[in-house]
Amino acid sequence: MEKGNLSIHSENILPIIKKWLYSDMDIFVRELVSNASDAITKLKKLADFGETTLDEGEEFFIRVAVDKANKQIIFEDNGIGMTAEEIKQYINQIAFSGANAFMEKYKEKTDASGEIIGHFGLGFYSAFMVADKVQIDSHSYKPDSEPVWWESDGSIEYSMDDGGKNTRGTTITLFVGEGGEEFLEIWKLRSILTKYCSFVPVPIFVEEIKDASEEIKESDDTEKSDDKPAPINDVAPLWIKPANECTDEEYKAFYHKVFTDFNEPLFWIHLNMDYPFRLKGILYFPKMKHDLEYIEGQVKLYNNQVFVADNIKEVIPEYLLLLKGVMDCPDLPLNVSRSFLQNDATVKKMSGYISRKVADKLNGLFKKDRDEYNGYWDDIAPFIKYGCIKERDFYDKIKGSVLYKTIDGKHVTLDEFIIDAPIAEDKKIVHYVTNEQLQSQYIQMFKEQNLSAVLLATNLDAPFVNYLETYEAGVKFTRIDSDIAGALKSDDISEDDAQPTGLEARFREILSNDKLSVRTESLKSTDVSSVMLLSEQSRRMQEMSKMFGGGSLPPGMFDEELTLVLNRNHSLVKRFTEIAENSDRNADTELVAQHLYDLAMLSHKPLGPEQMSAFIKRSNKILEMTIS
Ligand code: ADP
Repeated sequence: MEKGNLSIHSENILPIIKKWLYSDMDIFVRELVSNASDAITKLKKLADFGETTLDEGEEFFIRVAVDKANKQIIFEDNGIGMTAEEIKQYINQIAFSGANAFMEKYKEKTDASGEIIGHFGLGFYSAFMVADKVQIDSHSYKPDSEPVWWESDGSIEYSMDDGGKNTRGTTITLFVGEGGEEFLEIWKLRSILTKYCSFVPVPIFVEEIKDASEEIKESDDTEKSDDKPAPINDVAPLWIKPANECTDEEYKAFYHKVFTDFNEPLFWIHLNMDYPFRLKGILYFPKMKHDLEYIEGQVKLYNNQVFVADNIKEVIPEYLLLLKGVMDCPDLPLNVSRSFLQNDATVKKMSGYISRKVADKLNGLFKKDRDEYNGYWDDIAPFIKYGCIKERDFYDKIKGSVLYKTIDGKHVTLDEFIIDAPIAEDKKIVHYVTNEQLQSQYIQMFKEQNLSAVLLATNLDAPFVNYLETYEAGVKFTRIDSDIAGALKSDDISEDDAQPTGLEARFREILSNDKLSVRTESLKSTDVSSVMLLSEQSRRMQEMSKMFGGGSLPPGMFDEELTLVLNRNHSLVKRFTEIAENSDRNADTELVAQHLYDLAMLSHKPLGPEQMSAFIKRSNKILEMTIS
């Protein structure tokens, strides 16, 4: 028997591994299974290269067995195995990465998508998170190699000797210690395996080893038929298949299974890149019926089909986390720690590339099938706008495919809107609607004059509009009720269009509001008597202070900004201004003035309770007057 010291630089390395490298105890399962899977992948490669021959019909497997009575967890594979020399090199010299040596040797022969699992760091030693003692029994594929046995109790000492394993591969036995008992529960192991190993490329079989007496007692529960036990994993997840070989049904079925979401995804993007790093994955766009706040995405990150973690925003752009998807990045280390990722330049680049790829795909869809893309727009808009705000690069790439829904139900790009749509005098002013119902009177006026405006009605639109104005030179967004667009006014403005004297003062007096501005305009529409305007700037300020001031705005603070516009081309207004100019204040002019004000206000914002009851009362009075 050989005894020796593990060649590590500090005696304290194992406690450090236990504490820092992996914050989550579960992952020892992942590490040992991926080592096993790795060992099998390596063997297959060697066979491909003609460096070894496999038995006819050879079936690869990973076996995870738990023996509760003897407090053991066993990981067995029929992979490449290790010689004594290799154990010394790969296991005893902790810091030395065996995978690197392997890669070095077979570098020229591996293709670009070579699945050899990369530098996993200290994966094997994670076993000591739950075990007091770990034993390796291995038998290398190499001709004439001898089986080897190794054991360590997690201190810096190990023992090595000839082994008894007579089949090719490796068996790792964990002697579970205090604090690790929960992992002896088969359901616990199964759930960890399901989480991390559902798509590992080698079939995994889970087994419970029971002592003889128990076996008889519980024989009913055990395998009844002579059917082969089913592996717990899917060895060929859809993302590794070339996109042109995948059917819609397969994509949907995969979505339902992985995300246990029974809704249909809207569409999906299958990513497959080799350069400058390898990445395969599928991103699903779910139907977004709700506001952004309620959208919960899930993007699962894998390393060579081994699950790493959900929603790692260092690798996957944050806005993509609103989607559902799987991404396999073999170039990332498996034991990703967030602090490592945050400081890693490749990871930063990766996120940027993923973002660009997604933009490419969306742009492709936009060009290829505009109608289909238009149909998706309402669902994908929140996600795309959020992406634009979050990431300038994404915006720059995607902006040609950002759509705006117009008041007549068309989907147009900003360029199309500015160039094609008959809009107001200044081509770069985009009128928009935030509430179709409330602003219907303005929409009506626009439609009558064949003017167009866009709908920007979601929570995200206000910040998105600000964003656009910052990056799109000269484009200004103005809400449809912030001003009277030139095209809404009559062309024949004559001399007597001067403002009637004392009108504003009259209104201020009647409405007891000395801050209100009042003016008349000749509007083309003869149906509209009065409209209320609030300048875009004031309204935005108002909204901002509401948002940041928690809504506790002093009442009337922005009232002075309101402008009541009376339409001179409306017969009621014509009569009213004549009377108001010529006669003294009387009950009728008061009533009409109040009503003109309320009517204008109604299509600006909802009336308050008092205003509303006054409005109803007054309306009834007016009806009474018309009938008497
Ligand atoms: P890494 O996998 O990052 O190299 P590990 O500590 O997990 O680090 O493993 C060290 C090395 O031990 C591996 O690279 C591999 O060469 C060898 N090894 C570990 N487990 C097995 C196994 N089941 N079969 C064959 N070799 C293994």
